[in-house]
Amino acid sequence: MDYIDPYRDSKAVEYLVKDISSISLNREIRLMEVCGTHTMSIRKFGINNILPSNIKLLSGPGCPVCVTPTEYIDKAIKIAEREDVIIATFGDMMRVPGTNCSLEKAKANGASVYVVYSPIESLELAEKNRDKKVVFLAIGFETTAPSIGITVLEAYKRGLKNFFVLEGNKLIPPAIESILEDRDSKIDGFILPGHVCTITGYELFEFVPKRYNIPCAVSGFEPVDILLAIRELVLMVKQDLAEVKNLYPRAVKREGNLKAKEIIDKVFVKKDSNWRGLGNIKDSGLFLKEDFRGFDVLSVIDVGEVTSKDNPLCLCGEILKGKAYPYECPLFGKACTPISPKGPCMISSEGTCAAYYKYGFQKVR
Ligand code: SF4
Repeated sequence: MDYIDPYRDSKAVEYLVKDISSISLNREIRLMEVCGTHTMSIRKFGINNILPSNIKLLSGPGCPVCVTPTEYIDKAIKIAEREDVIIATFGDMMRVPGTNCSLEKAKANGASVYVVYSPIESLELAEKNRDKKVVFLAIGFETTAPSIGITVLEAYKRGLKNFFVLEGNKLIPPAIESILEDRDSKIDGFILPGHVCTITGYELFEFVPKRYNIPCAVSGFEPVDILLAIRELVLMVKQDLAEVKNLYPRAVKREGNLKAKEIIDKVFVKKDSNWRGLGNIKDSGLFLKEDFRGFDVLSVIDVGEVTSKDNPLCLCGEILKGKAYPYECPLFGKACTPISPKGPCMISSEGTCAAYYKYGFQKVR
């Protein structure tokens, strides 16, 4: 089966754009995507430029690196600076500025920081470096949680005593709820994250139409996928309907991936978690269950008091709530570029500022 070409077919794109334009609505429609890969695809394929001007696309808290607060980076750097520690992290985390430093700078100053492509690689590091504590920076959403869960289970099975995680996993549904509880958010519909829904299933998002009367469409990542989702959302807005429509059935089921969910439930428990921009959100983080608490690095290393400060000019927090566009930040494209980033949204491969910088933009207000 061809999973790419039919979803990039220019005739299908043209047809869908015409169809969306024909659904007459004499008001602005604000649709939020909550997935960094959607943000990138929308900009890369220029979808924002071919839609009717009354449809506004907003980026939400869909980039895991971007939503990780400065306090987490500062703790990671403090841990990295210890001689008995090796940090294992996804590459995007390296350049995110903490209050005084980044992991990249800490590495240049002598800290042991390794980039890994999968959490399981950190177990190899732990086995090869028995005299060190190997700490994996466990950030990500529901998509990453199963692989981190498997890594913890494997470390448990192997009896590894020098492998740890710095807990930072987050959950998307509570973040959406937090945005909806903000009366100023004015969202007409959500383009739901296809990757996250592959794991969670879309049933977890049914509270959005039920409780808030706002339509949702699960979308894949090719132009036709995204336009199908947008058409469905615009139609539902016009008809005053609110449901979750699955426009990505080749990957997403209502119940999700049961095996992956089982692993998450086995290893993690939900607790409140702090998000950049959104603050502390109830039950929005995944933390190790009692049986696995020994893998929590903070149970063996005291980082002391961490006082974190964000760059006051950086608008990442507002951008993650859909309340600002990157070009409204005074640093965008001037002091802050991918070469010299001042905030996580310009660093991450899923960051909104990086997407606007790389693929260009038209001001919408
Ligand atoms: Fe933050 Fe840079 Fe984006 Fe401004 S342009 S919001 S400083 S990441």
